[in-house]
Amino acid sequence: MEKIRVVVSGAYGRMGREVVKAVFAQEDMELVGAVDKVGTGVDAGEAAGLKKNGVLIESDLHQTLLNTKPQVVVDFSTPLAVKENIKIILDSGANGVIGTTGLTAESLKELEVLAEQAGKGLLVAPNFAIGAVLMMRFAKEAARFLPEAEIIELHHDRKIDSPSGTALKTAEMIRKGRVQAPAVKPSPLEKVKGARGGDYADVHIHSIRLPGFVAHQEVIFGGDGQTLTIRHDSLDRSSFMPGVLMGVRKIINGQGLIYGLENLLE
Ligand code: NAP
Repeated sequence: MEKIRVVVSGAYGRMGREVVKAVFAQEDMELVGAVDKVGTGVDAGEAAGLKKNGVLIESDLHQTLLNTKPQVVVDFSTPLAVKENIKIILDSGANGVIGTTGLTAESLKELEVLAEQAGKGLLVAPNFAIGAVLMMRFAKEAARFLPEAEIIELHHDRKIDSPSGTALKTAEMIRKGRVQAPAVKPSPLEKVKGARGGDYADVHIHSIRLPGFVAHQEVIFGGDGQTLTIRHDSLDRSSFMPGVLMGVRKIINGQGLIYGLENLLE
């Protein structure tokens, strides 16, 4: 059986190390390269808490892709670099599985065109945890009957973007699910700026950043005399791995942009 050749970008980071570990555990995948801006020269397996495996972390994505010719690059780097990284990935002739958040709707449109032109698959998923995908799906369904909703998302304090990509995607799905517009909620006396959170797709989003959290989200719907809360918790980064591995296996036959893991679940 030919193994899927995988490069991990952001391999020294929290998510990247988990992906390195997950790829090593698969019989049908081979880690052929690892890239990061820190940890250069460190063995990727050792960085992930495994035995040394001879794949050293490199600093130059472009050069690594030229040298290793992977079929798939998994990127969990930083919102500041992800767009440029995706261009490099598509340019090299590889497919992309992108977990890094922070891409704007405009950037996604641009990347969709680039992926089509390259004839490659590009999976961008703000959340690879199956439970989170179900949370978003249930939120869309609930919005049909309860159009008024707010989101509280809670993440570790080193996350640099807010709100989270998951919260933005959930708000978009709520907008799609609504058959009735939510009531306007004026806040004429906001005593602390931002107390009502940010408004996206007529959904208020509140972002909490504290040590101790991994990735959590509550979607709260309100109706006459009742509320409905849908909550998902990623307690450990391993929660994202089944989704990432599914993405790697499916994207090798993909073409163009796929935005959201839910599109691979049917
Ligand atoms: P992290 O621990 O900071 O890891 C990111 C790593 O990428 C860091 O070592 C960083 O180095 C490195 N990096 C910076 N620029 C790079 C570049 N140009 N090319 C390659 N690597 C580069 O962050 P994390 O917690 O792993 O999260 C990474 C991203 O994944 C974030 O956007 C986060 O929100 C997202 N995420 C997504 C999911 C999902 O399911 N989709 C789940 C969890 C997290 P420096 O420290 O020098 O910057």
